Amino acid sequence: MTDVTSIPLILNATISSDLDVIGDRWTLLILRDLFLGRTRFESLRTHTGASKATLSRRLDTLIQIDVIKRQQLKPTSKHYDYLLTGKGLKLFGASILAWRWETQWLASASESSLPITLLHTPCGHPFIPETVCTHCGQAVKFEDVKWYTSDDSFQHQLKVIQSANKMRRVRNSRTSALDNRMAGISDLIGDRWTLLILIAAFMGAKRNYEFANYLNIASNILSQRLSMLVEENLFEKTAYQHNPPRYEYVLTDKSKALFPLVMILRQWAMDFHTTPESLKHEPCGANLRLSVNCNMCKTELHPTDISF
Ligand SMILES: [Zn+2]
Ligand SMILES: [Zn+2]
Repeated sequence: MTDVTSIPLILNATISSDLDVIGDRWTLLILRDLFLGRTRFESLRTHTGASKATLSRRLDTLIQIDVIKRQQLKPTSKHYDYLLTGKGLKLFGASILAWRWETQWLASASESSLPITLLHTPCGHPFIPETVCTHCGQAVKFEDVKWYTSDDSFQHQLKVIQSANKMRRVRNSRTSALDNRMAGISDLIGDRWTLLILIAAFMGAKRNYEFANYLNIASNILSQRLSMLVEENLFEKTAYQHNPPRYEYVLTDKSKALFPLVMILRQWAMDFHTTPESLKHEPCGANLRLSVNCNMCKTELHPTDISF
């Protein structure tokens, strides 16, 4: 099993600023709609439910980090379209995995505007996205991924993560989106702390003090997020000691199903920065490199090859 001391490495300082932008509830909803082909301000506003101010702030930020661009498709038109850039299109794998997880695990997804089946046009089949190791072609499960680290970079990165966490803006301690009404995946990975706690759990953390030590998270925020994760059936709370009672938090099938998505987001963020490799796919021994494929024809999924 993983050594919990390596937890802070997965979100190192150079990638966390991009993930901060992407790991935002509104941004995730906006990206999902862009992949569904909605490119106009008004259409994005209707489907995401964001206010005008919120939407234009998020769009500006996405332009700044080069994930989308604003274009006037007809010179005579007053309207602008928001289009994904190359860097933005590379988020497609994450978006498709988010769709899969929501339709599989959230009852509310069937009542929402999400399409229930997607068609892969090159092979003509309805498909399920599959996250595979590009080296051996096997589907990647979280039990098969080994985290490793070199000690010298570790202490430095730990410090950077901890100081960055101290400076988190107000929105990260927001609780309004974490009420009983789960809008979907964006509430989970769109909350920085929830995302970090899930990643820590994927790396082997189970007990309160393990999360607390390695994430440098305030105890009230930690216990609030842990209760939410238990309520949402992403963690199972079990007693490992009875007198006095002590609990640990164990991943469920529902949260294990989030693993490929979290790994794809991590990979996306790292691809735009030079960072040392820190993950291995144990069955084949290669550095972990993922691709999101069609389960029917086993080829990589691209945005232009999908119809609803
Ligand atoms: Zn492999
Ligand atoms: Zn296919």
